Amino acid sequence: MAQQEDNLLKKIISHAKEYGFIFPSSEIYDGLSAVYDYGQNGVELKNNIKEYWWKFMTTLHDNIVGIDAAIFMHPTTWKASGHVDAFNDPMVDNRDSKKRYRADQLIEGYVEKQEEKIEKEVEKAAKRFGETFNRELFLTTNPRVTEIRKKAEEANARLKEAMGSGDMQALRQLLDDLEIACPVSGTRNWTEVRQFNLMFSTEMGSVADDASKIYLRPETAQGIFVNYLNVQKTGRMKLPFGIAQIGKAFRNEIVARQFIFRMREFEQMEMQFFIRPGEEMKWYEHWKEKRMRWHQALGLGTDNHRFHDHLNLAHYANAACDIQFNFPMGFRELEGIHSRTDFDLGNHEKFSGKKIQYFDPETNQGYVPYVVETSIGLDRMFLAVLSNAYQEEALASKEGEEGNERVVLRIPAPLAPFKVAVLPLIKKDGLPEKAQEIINLLRFDFRCYYEEKDAIGKRYRRMDAIGTPYCITVDHQTLTDGTVTLRDRDSMQQQRMAIEALPDFLRGHCSISNLLRKL
Ligand code: ATP
Repeated sequence: MAQQEDNLLKKIISHAKEYGFIFPSSEIYDGLSAVYDYGQNGVELKNNIKEYWWKFMTTLHDNIVGIDAAIFMHPTTWKASGHVDAFNDPMVDNRDSKKRYRADQLIEGYVEKQEEKIEKEVEKAAKRFGETFNRELFLTTNPRVTEIRKKAEEANARLKEAMGSGDMQALRQLLDDLEIACPVSGTRNWTEVRQFNLMFSTEMGSVADDASKIYLRPETAQGIFVNYLNVQKTGRMKLPFGIAQIGKAFRNEIVARQFIFRMREFEQMEMQFFIRPGEEMKWYEHWKEKRMRWHQALGLGTDNHRFHDHLNLAHYANAACDIQFNFPMGFRELEGIHSRTDFDLGNHEKFSGKKIQYFDPETNQGYVPYVVETSIGLDRMFLAVLSNAYQEEALASKEGEEGNERVVLRIPAPLAPFKVAVLPLIKKDGLPEKAQEIINLLRFDFRCYYEEKDAIGKRYRRMDAIGTPYCITVDHQTLTDGTVTLRDRDSMQQQRMAIEALPDFLRGHCSISNLLRKL
């Protein structure tokens, strides 16, 4: 990671802690690696993201319902899903730096670097040739580019082969052949590559002999699959239909760095869409487009999202892509969209001995439905919103002296922890009482913040730092004509507004329903 990006992430981490968004877990005992707690402001932002997702997926779709399955599941679930045998990551250590890596990620990093090299060649040539430059022709004929591409494709093919067959020696050989060095020590002094299963396990039952090994779920999806029949029957659902769920998942990640991007306990928002076999590509495209629209509606910047097709498909998928987001560390996976075929339901049928079929009244046939899944990490979405919102700004307006700075979180207003702060200009003359009256008018629809301490400028700064989109200041004029000053977080512009007009104004700008209406 470049120095500047690293610094930005560090600033975001310390801001998140200082302002009650995210704390290291059990911090008084020096924390627990890759586990975090959400504080008083973080939980509000997180709940708002959940609401935005839940309402979009369920309320706006007649054919999608939600469930909330338990974290513990029958252990055979994870045999059937392939997680016991195949949910492994290849782990490798550098003997000099003592750092641990995922071997596949080191190799993927190498492939990405080759792509970057090609882009640099393209940029150079475009400058050289000017208007006559033909990108496609250059990419297919330039000897240097074709050579780099060949190397990248070979590396990728060998990676795919080794991952597919679980050949750890081949991965190790690839590290050597590609001359991949440890980013920390710079040496190629690697240990053997070993398989590591990412599932956490524990024992269930009080008597040691009877106790059986169970797992903390590594994905929420299986809770949906094992409930497919229950929901389809009791909800009288007809294909195509979906089941959505938000819940915790646990993975004993080998390399858990980069704050809440990769955690060992995290939350997923997943939807499994059940369809007729053969229609998967249509629905795959459908959900790609819909999910991208959901992201873009937040206004985090059209250029900050992109699709990335999976080169190496997981064991259950016949098509898969990620929606990547431009995090401080660069473009990384935020959400996955996967065509999972009938892999999961078919295997649960096999392992449970129960028939998991849908009788299609249109074709008069019974079959195991196919599935297209959308799967987004809630914590990664939180990081996307937070990192995009964080800005340091010089203040030249009347709110600051020249040279002053403010840190402002430009969180999309419908997701902000507090929608509005109500601030009496001074602590007397009935202004605090008037402010409380306004809060009582607004609090049923909007999370409000009350604050009477310190100069008004300081209070504005504190609200900027937690991303409150509007501040309402109550002054002496309020007592005579029923108007307040409404200050906008982003522009810092102020306007006078009647108290009765506040609910409609805030609904228009800060409600999740209004955001959903635009989709
Ligand atoms: P990665 O390649 O980054 O490990 P993945 O492809 O294993 O992710 P999926 O199994 O597709 O991830 O999980 C779906 C989503 O869950 C991801 O897009 C991501 O947002 C989130 N997610 C997965 N692992 C973690 C984690 N350790 N911490 C936080 N979020 C995660």
